[in-house]
Amino acid sequence: MEDLNKRIICQSCAMPLKKSEDFGTENDESKSKDFCHFCYKDGKFTDEGITLNEKVDQLVDIAISKLGLSEDLARTMAKTKLPTLKRWKN
Ligand SMILES: [Zn+2]
Repeated sequence: MEDLNKRIICQSCAMPLKKSEDFGTENDESKSKDFCHFCYKDGKFTDEGITLNEKVDQLVDIAISKLGLSEDLARTMAKTKLPTLKRWKN
């Protein structure tokens, strides 16, 4: 059984993963444990080769348009959060 109260976030973009549809898929069609369906599909990153800075820019755009955050706030959050995630740690 999955513990639904445990907070899981995508280890690439920090999006909260709540429902099983939120998770990406492995190449055997099982669900990824770490990544969302925007970032990860069929065992690969959908944006493979992107740099951390490019990912920050992408998230800043989303945070401004979808969440209405200011650019400064969005950028600070993305720059603080992303380097702690598995995908960007090395
Ligand atoms: Zn993601």
